[in-house]
Amino acid sequence: MADRADVIIVGLGAMGSAAAYHLAKRGRRVLGFDRFHPPHTLGSSHGGTRIIREAYMEDPSYVPLVQRAYDLWAELEAESGKTLLTQTGGLMIGAPDSDVVLGALESARLHDLPHELLDAAALRGRAPGYALPEDHVAVWEPRAGALDPEACVATHLDLAAQHGADLRFDHPVERWRPDGDGVAVTTAQGTFLADRLILSAGAWTGSFHAKLELPLRVTRQTVHWYKPARNPEHFAPDRFPIFVWRLPGGQAIYGFPDFGDGVKAGLHDTLEDADPDNVDREVGQDLVDQMRDVFARYLPDAAGEFLRAETCLYTRTPDGHFLIDRHHRHPQVVLASPCSGHGFKFSTVIGEVLADLALDGDSRFDLGLFSLQRLLRSKAS
Ligand SMILES: Cc1cc2nc3c(=O)[nH]c(=O)nc-3n(C[C@H](O)[C@H](O)[C@H](O)COP(=O)(O)OP(=O)(O)OC[C@H]3O[C@@H](n4cnc5c(N)ncnc54)[C@H](O)[C@@H]3O)c2cc1C
Repeated sequence: MADRADVIIVGLGAMGSAAAYHLAKRGRRVLGFDRFHPPHTLGSSHGGTRIIREAYMEDPSYVPLVQRAYDLWAELEAESGKTLLTQTGGLMIGAPDSDVVLGALESARLHDLPHELLDAAALRGRAPGYALPEDHVAVWEPRAGALDPEACVATHLDLAAQHGADLRFDHPVERWRPDGDGVAVTTAQGTFLADRLILSAGAWTGSFHAKLELPLRVTRQTVHWYKPARNPEHFAPDRFPIFVWRLPGGQAIYGFPDFGDGVKAGLHDTLEDADPDNVDREVGQDLVDQMRDVFARYLPDAAGEFLRAETCLYTRTPDGHFLIDRHHRHPQVVLASPCSGHGFKFSTVIGEVLADLALDGDSRFDLGLFSLQRLLRSKAS
């Protein structure tokens, strides 16, 4: 590595690894740091599976981004020779007027995406693993599936290194400061200079922006694996699409078929605040029991032996949309906190967007939903 990098990246998880890959592939001098050695289990990008879906219920403006992500995941698979995405189809389930169903339908219709609206009886015939209340419906979409997050991060990092990125693991960054038009980044090993900085520190993002007091909330989430009690073939990847389900009580649950290690599911709306440096990673019996009840009610044949549970971190914004923007006072610095529990699927395209923002100051995608200003405003209000 020459004395001065083109771009320093702080945090080499889902977003940082992808940014390192895209920048290095363009021939840029990349210097990346991570406090641990990704892929690891201490941040937001572990647990074997992440949903990818196209009829995006959160907002139709995510659809062009996820479509570019599909293309880039396929390119990454071709370049690496690895399988990263398994297509299972997807079900967005709930009452006909629920946000999950209405949001998926709006995106599907606006972007002319293939989809079907199934009632409970039609779904029982097609995917008998789900026990839908009679008044629930499901939006089925064919391209949804599951990404392997550890393999995606490792592949981005391996290929970034092959394209010349200098990646330093177990190397925490202590602070950064503007240095003329560029930046100076300090670690225990010294101070490193670059023209641009990408901050993609996941659950630790707040610690780099103490002065901005960003309204980011880190929460502890748990995911649970069960062995099907009956009819295991109903939970195989070809019979049991990935799903997001707004349950009758108002909670949202998401889950995956049995890829050989059990049926996995988690609750999306739990709000247990966490300090990323002091996370209780034990999953208590109360949470195990809560999830067993949900399985028993809505996925009864899957509610067999409890296999295991894991802890992971969300970094949430007040409106649930991402933070992807240049720093309002230091435009040489790009901030990336694309989480709120739904960022992984986009990580490869967000890497491309971060590279564009760092090098050109702009992106061809509409990033209006992800602006820093709206977070600063929401803090003030
Ligand atoms: C349980 C769970 C389920 C989810 N399900 C889905 C899903 O189905 N689909 C989906 O699309 N998304 C999902 N998400 C969201 C998705 O996983 C996140 O949006 C994504 O992982 C965030 O990536 P990141 O790069 O911001 O964070 P991370 O991948 O955690 O990377 C941040 C990195 O920064 C490093 N770092 C922090 N501080 C420093 C420092 N001082 N110096 C150097 N390095 C530092 C950390 O070590 C870490 O490696 C889920 C998240 C969780 C927790």
